[in-house]
Amino acid sequence: MSISLGHRTTRRVASMIIAAILIGLCAASASSTALAQPQILSAPLHIIRAGSGHAGRRVPVRAAPPASLTALAAFQPTTITVTYNGFSPEAQAAFAYAVSIWAQQISSPVPIQVNANWTALGPGVLGSAGPSYMMRDFLGAPVAGFWYPIALANKLSGADQAPTSPDISANFNSTFGSWYFGTDGITPFSQYDFVSVVLHELGHGIGVSGTASVDSLGSGSLGYSGYPSIYDRYTTDSAGTPLLNYANPSAALGAVLRANPLYFTGSNARTANGSANVRLYAPAAWAGGSSYAHLDETFNGTANALMTFSISNGESIHDPGDVVRGILQDLGWTTVNLVPTSTPTRTPTSTPTRTLTSTPTRTPTSTLTRTPTLTTTWFPTGMATSTPTRTSTSTPTRTVTTTPTAIPVISLKTWRVWFPLVVQR
Ligand SMILES: [Zn+2]
Repeated sequence: MSISLGHRTTRRVASMIIAAILIGLCAASASSTALAQPQILSAPLHIIRAGSGHAGRRVPVRAAPPASLTALAAFQPTTITVTYNGFSPEAQAAFAYAVSIWAQQISSPVPIQVNANWTALGPGVLGSAGPSYMMRDFLGAPVAGFWYPIALANKLSGADQAPTSPDISANFNSTFGSWYFGTDGITPFSQYDFVSVVLHELGHGIGVSGTASVDSLGSGSLGYSGYPSIYDRYTTDSAGTPLLNYANPSAALGAVLRANPLYFTGSNARTANGSANVRLYAPAAWAGGSSYAHLDETFNGTANALMTFSISNGESIHDPGDVVRGILQDLGWTTVNLVPTSTPTRTPTSTPTRTLTSTPTRTPTSTLTRTPTLTTTWFPTGMATSTPTRTSTSTPTRTVTTTPTAIPVISLKTWRVWFPLVVQR
C-alpha cells in the first residue's frame, strides 16, 4: 500500500518561525566571525495526510564494516551530540540507539549537534526535522554557489561553522500514542518504530533534502535566495535534463516536479543503484516536505526503504541502505562504502552533463542561512491532517554525547545489507 501527503502554508506559524530564525541567526552571527551577513528565508510548513504501509517489514541494522573497507575510505565514525528536550528515558534510549547507527555511517571530524524536542505536534504527526542551517561558499566548499547542510559544511571545512548552534533540529510527537521504543526492530503491528523515525529524520538533517517547491499556481522553483542546494545539483527530469537548467521559477519547472519521474544522478548513488539513476518521489500533487526529498515508492520493500516518505505501523528500518549512502557520498559525505570494488564500472553515457548555467557567481564571503522549513515529516497511517510547528519546551534539557565505538573487524560476508523478512499487507 502507499501513502500520500499534502501540505499547506500557515502564515502565522511561518511568522513565528521567522522570529525564531532571526533569534538563531543573531546567536550564530555573534558566535562566528567567519559568517557573512546571513540570509533569512520563510517558507510553508507542511501538514499531513495519511496512508498505509508495510507492517512486518524489517531492515535490520547492518553489521559494522570490515576494517579493510574502512581503511580504504579513511572512515572515522562521527560523534553526534544530542540535546534532549523532554524525552522519557525509554524514548531517549531509543533515540540514542538511532544516533549510534548514524555515527557509524558517516565520517566527520566535527561533532554533529542535534537539538531534539519531544513535543506535541498534532494528531498523526510522528516527527519533523531538517538542517538547522544551510551554508554556502565556506572555506573548503567543494562547489561554489550551492547551499550545504551545516553538518556537511562543518565536515567539509573541518571546523564548526556555527559552534553555538545545533546542526540538526528535530521534533517528535509526544502525544502520539503508538510509539514502539524497543531497539530490536521487532515492532508490534499496532505500533510505530521510534528508532526508524529518528534514523529517517536525521537522514534529512544531514542532507537528504532539496529546495524545490511548487506554489498554488503551479509554478515550480529551486533554491534559497537564488542559490540551489548541493542536493539540487544532481537532480534531473526523466530525459536527463538537470532541473537547474529549467527557468526558475517557471510553470515548466512546476510541471516537471509533479507526476514526472525525477532522478538523483550522482555517480555514487548510481553505482549503489545498479548503475541506474535513483528515482525520487514525485507524486502528481505536490506534497511539500515529501515530494523531491525522498526516494520513490519503488524503493519500498527493499533494503533502501529508509528514505521513502512514510513509515508503516509494524515496520522497522534500521539501516540507511546503499543508495542513500551513495547519495550522501555525492553530496560530499564520507560514508562507509558498501559497494564492493568488483562492482562493474558505471556507464557515464546515460548521465547528463550537469551544466551549472543557473548557478550564480561565487561570492567572496561565506553565507549562512537558516533552513526555512522542517524538511520532512513521517506520518503514520490513517491520521487526520494537522500542522507541525517548531515548539519550544520548558522541560529541563539533558545533553548526551554518543561517542561511537571502535569498528570491529568482521568478514566481508556480513557486510552486506540483508533483508530477511518482507511481509506486505
Ligand atoms: Zn522524510
